[in-house]
Amino acid sequence: MSYRTVIGLEIHVQLMTKTKAFCPCRADVFELPANTAVCPVCTGQPGALPVVNSSMVEYAAKIALALNCNVHEYSRFDRKNYFYPDLPKGYQITQYFYPIATSGYMDIDVDEQVKRIRIRKLHIEEDAGKLIHEGDSITQAHYSLVDMNRCGVPLVEIVTEPDLSSPKEARLFVEKLRTILRYLQVSTGDMEKGALRCDANISVVDEINNIQSNRVEVKNMNSFRFIEKALEYEEQRIIDALKNGQNVEKETRGWDLSNRITISMRGKEEESDYRYFPEPDIPPVILSEEKLDQIKSTLVELPDQKVERFVELYKIPRYDATVLAMDKEIADFYEACVKKIGKPKEVSNLIMTEMLREMKQLETEQIKITPEHIYELFSLMDKGEISIKMAKDIFPQIFRTGKMPSQVLEEKGIRQISDEKLIEEIVRKAMIQNPKAVEQYRSGKTNIIGYFVGQVMKETKGSANPQLVNDVVKRLLEGSS
Ligand code: ADP
Ligand code: ZN
Ligand code: MG
Repeated sequence: MSYRTVIGLEIHVQLMTKTKAFCPCRADVFELPANTAVCPVCTGQPGALPVVNSSMVEYAAKIALALNCNVHEYSRFDRKNYFYPDLPKGYQITQYFYPIATSGYMDIDVDEQVKRIRIRKLHIEEDAGKLIHEGDSITQAHYSLVDMNRCGVPLVEIVTEPDLSSPKEARLFVEKLRTILRYLQVSTGDMEKGALRCDANISVVDEINNIQSNRVEVKNMNSFRFIEKALEYEEQRIIDALKNGQNVEKETRGWDLSNRITISMRGKEEESDYRYFPEPDIPPVILSEEKLDQIKSTLVELPDQKVERFVELYKIPRYDATVLAMDKEIADFYEACVKKIGKPKEVSNLIMTEMLREMKQLETEQIKITPEHIYELFSLMDKGEISIKMAKDIFPQIFRTGKMPSQVLEEKGIRQISDEKLIEEIVRKAMIQNPKAVEQYRSGKTNIIGYFVGQVMKETKGSANPQLVNDVVKRLLEGSS
């Protein structure tokens, strides 16, 4: 363990404001036909003037508050100059010298331990357009097309300190961030649609020889899994270089999905290339204390607070609370169920195992059943009409069809056998067939009880009420006859 990995993230979040950052064009452009959400401002026509979208500032402040940042009363926009076909103005409007927020943190759970990741800064900027290359890849393309719909879509960039020490921690950080963004309802957080984009800087320290590798920037990781995979690949590549007494280039690399490797994209450009200077067409953003207090008062309960409350109020393990709070819809669903049913731990078990598994298998984030379904399921168990095993067996069908548990049971013709006479009959038969076992029980080997319970379950194909079977078996074995 002589190699220590160092990772810092730069994350871009697309804000789901109605309109773009500095013009009235709509901001949700993902599936629109090319170049249909554009105007003179976002396409950089001469003389067009940008106007700051106040919702954008509010959303950015919300994220900053949720990430425990210092939110500044004064922030300002700058021009970042570079030439690229998807940037019609020839510069990007961003907050370089005076970002809206600095020095925050977010806690992540790593192997049941809390780790604090510091946030260096959070700033607002606009997105660029998109190039569509004709052909398989850039090298084979004969020409490229420009779609300017995304020009001027509002983004927040979040830069962490290099406090992450593994690819897994990097993934956990982005997952938690997405949870918070969704709680705040400021971004869809959909990575596959580019609403949440993560660039990672990674280096490795050889602690024995006290050598730090160059830092590599990895881009194009458009899913949580790829963040972890790409960084694992890169981590190993750097360690291999260090082991050979070499170093890696200080460069930008991209995750190549089909070959599962990172490939060099370009050498790292110097900051001075961008010739930053204050944006002359936009006045500074002033966020008064009153305004900030007002924004604060609209913040919903955040995941960490929810976990604390669930542990305190429902006395469920912190692990359960953390899993449930990962998704606000699931947390709300859980609470609604517990309010009706009680049994906070039992309900949590059912949701965490059965329901989350179904959602994962169906690749859906939607809960298609209501707390009513769970309530009925628990009622049926309470009345002894079904066992926990049967409840679990029918759960997928309930979840997939949205049918009530009683209806599923009826359709499947399943009913738990709570007929005491019938169970007695089966036990008596088993006792006659195996007198030795009866003797063993009576001479103190009480765990032989399992044999009789098993016999009943076999006869009834597992549908006998387990508690009742236990009671009957005990009563008959202990009886004097
Ligand atoms: P640059 O000026 O090259 O963009 P920054 O200092 O702005 O570098 O940092 C960019 C990102 O790189 C931040 O997320 C930061 O946490 C991360 N970072 C800084 N130093 C290291 C390092 N030694 N190894 C890995 N990541 C680092
Ligand atoms: Zn526009
Ligand atoms: Mg930087």
